[in-house]
Amino acid sequence: MTDLRDAGPVDLILVGGGHTNVQVMTAFARQPEPRLRLTLVTDRLTTPYSGMLPGCVAGLYAVEEMHIDLARLARATGTRLIHAAAIGLDRPGKRLLLADGAMVSYDLLSLNVGIAPDLSGIEGADRHGIPVKPISGFLTRLDALLKALQKPDGPRRIAIVGGGAAGVELAFAMRARLNREAPGWGIDPASFDLVLASAEGLVPALNDSVRRKVEAALARHRIGFVSDFRVVAITARSLRAQDGRELPADAVLLSTDARAPSWLAGTGLPLAKDGSVETRETLQALGDDAIFAVGDCATVVADPRPKAGVFAVRQGPALVRGLRAVLGGEPIPRHQPQREFLTLLMTGDGSAIAGRGTWFSLEGRLVWRWKDWIDRRFMAMFSEFDRDRTP
Ligand SMILES: Cc1cc2nc3c(=O)[nH]c(=O)nc-3n(C[C@H](O)[C@H](O)[C@H](O)COP(=O)(O)OP(=O)(O)OC[C@H]3O[C@@H](n4cnc5c(N)ncnc54)[C@H](O)[C@@H]3O)c2cc1C
Repeated sequence: MTDLRDAGPVDLILVGGGHTNVQVMTAFARQPEPRLRLTLVTDRLTTPYSGMLPGCVAGLYAVEEMHIDLARLARATGTRLIHAAAIGLDRPGKRLLLADGAMVSYDLLSLNVGIAPDLSGIEGADRHGIPVKPISGFLTRLDALLKALQKPDGPRRIAIVGGGAAGVELAFAMRARLNREAPGWGIDPASFDLVLASAEGLVPALNDSVRRKVEAALARHRIGFVSDFRVVAITARSLRAQDGRELPADAVLLSTDARAPSWLAGTGLPLAKDGSVETRETLQALGDDAIFAVGDCATVVADPRPKAGVFAVRQGPALVRGLRAVLGGEPIPRHQPQREFLTLLMTGDGSAIAGRGTWFSLEGRLVWRWKDWIDRRFMAMFSEFDRDRTP
C-alpha cells in the first residue's frame, strides 16, 4: 500500500452504512485524525440494526427505534454523505463507481454492504416470497401483508423459510404480532397457521440444548416445523421442496442462505463461495491493501465466522484501530474474532432463549431483558450524535 504517513489529506470512503462502518464514523468524530476525510456512500438514508428486527416485527419496537439515521449521523460526525448505490470499483484508478455514473476517488475504502437471501434457486420467489433483506423492502412488504391478513378472506397460512436463528425469530415474531393484533381485526389469532420450513434441521449452527428449547417454544406457540425441506418453488398457494413435497402457504417470508451483492464479483477481488470478499485478519481484502471489507459481505479466510451482526459489531473498533495504524504508518493489528458467541433468540412473548458454545442455553424473561438491554445499548452509541453539530 502507498505510505500514507506523510501524505496530505487521506480520503476514506465508507461503502454501506452497516454495523461496522457506522462505528468508524462515531470513532473518528470522538477522536479525530486531522488528515482523514470521511465519506459515506449509502443506497439508503437509514440503516437498520438487525438485532431489533424480530422485536419490530413482533410490534415491540417502533421502526424508528431499530434504525440509525445516516444523514443525521453523517452531519453530526462531519462525514460527507453520498446517497447512491455503489456498483463497482476501478481499483487501478482507486475510484468507486456509483449507479448514477459518478466516480468517487479514494485512498482507503471500507466495504460494509451486507448480504441478502439468495433467491436464485427458488422459482417464483420474486413474485410470491418476501425476502427478509434488504430490511427496508421487507418492512414495506410486511406492512402490506399485515393489511392483507386483516381481510376476512386474506392469507391464513404463513410459511417462514429458513431454519436458522433469523428464520426462527421471525416465526416467533409473526406469531406474537398476530396474537397482539388479530383480535382488533375481529379475527381469532388461532385461525392463522404458521409453519417454519428448513432446508436442514432447526438452528443447525446452535447447540442441542438450545435446539430443544426452540423446539418446545415453537410447539408452545403453535408454529409447525418441517425439516429437510429445501424450497425450490413458491406459488400463490404453496411451497414445493426439492424432493417434491408440497406445503400449503399463501404468504411466504424468506430467510434463506444469503449471498453478497453481485457487483462485488466485478471488482476482481477474491471472493468466497457466498460472494463475500475474502480478507486477511487485518480486515484488508486479499490482494488489495487499500480496501477493507467487513461484516457479512466479507470472509476472513484464516478464520471464517458465521454471518452474524455480532461479528460486524465487534469489527468496528478493530477497523478503527487498523485505519489509525495505516495513517501512522504502523503495522495493522490482526483482529481475533471470538470463538464462541452468544446467540439470543426472542420468542415474542416477553421471553428469549440464549445459547453459547457447545452446551450452554438459558430461557426466560430475564434473557429477553438481557437481549433488549444489549440491543438498546448498541443503538445508544449513536444517540449522542442525534443532534446535528452543524447549524
Ligand atoms: C431477522 C433477522 C434477525 C437477526 N438477528 C440477529 C441477531 O440478533 N444477532 C446477530 O448477531 N445477527 C442477527 N442477524 C444477522 C444480521 O442481520 C447480519 O449479520 C448483519 O445485519 C450484518 O451487518 P452488516 O453490517 O454486515 O450489513 P448490513 O447491516 O446489512 O448493512 C449493509 C448496509 O449497506 C447498504 N448497502 C448495501 N448495498 C449497498 C450499495 N451497493 N451501495 C451503498 N450502500 C449499500 C445497506 O443499505 C445497509 O445500510 C439477523 C438477521 C435477520 C435477517
